[in-house]
Amino acid sequence: MGKIEIVEGDITREKVDVIVNAANSSLLGGGGVDGAIHRAAGPELLAECRDLRSSTLPDGLPPGDAIATGAYEIKKVKWIVHTVGPNRHAGQTDPQDLARCFSNSLHLARSLSARSIAIPAIGAGVYGWDHETVADLAIRAALAEQRERGGIDRIRFVLFSKDAAAIWSQAKLTHLGR
Ligand code: ADP
Repeated sequence: MGKIEIVEGDITREKVDVIVNAANSSLLGGGGVDGAIHRAAGPELLAECRDLRSSTLPDGLPPGDAIATGAYEIKKVKWIVHTVGPNRHAGQTDPQDLARCFSNSLHLARSLSARSIAIPAIGAGVYGWDHETVADLAIRAALAEQRERGGIDRIRFVLFSKDAAAIWSQAKLTHLGR
């Protein structure tokens, strides 16, 4: 069985094969973790995102979907997987879409042969989801991934505050009992 880790920190400082970005549909950058990842990765990331928009995603990335790019100046990471959480403030309130952010990001990372991944609290910032809901969906998706043959061994959830990390640790306890 793989490892599911809950840590407090800045996801741009992780040393893993893949980090996940909580992007917006435009893929052209934003605030929160998206802004931090674009600042750390540098302008080539924005250039690749622009190319993706003009080639395969003219209408942007729909909530729940995931795509991969290079990591550029984030040298300790091989790829960035971008996913878009549903925006509760825009009436996107279906938790299944949020669950798909986690499962699609994990599947995509596995298809890239990633053995480790760091994931933020997708949706728990400006998109208005509470940490309890996000943590529950995320840990379910991680456990499902690790039940699959060849599933990713090391899944790290990186939280930006002590309070958030405490909620996620409790959710992990509820699911794993340890
Ligand atoms: P969303 O739009 O999906 O809600 P946000 O970026 O607004 O995404 O927030 C998602 C979560 O990421 C929030 O809990 C926020 O505190 C956290 N966050 C912000 N910056 C970072 C960072 N550098 N590393 C990890 N998590 C971060």
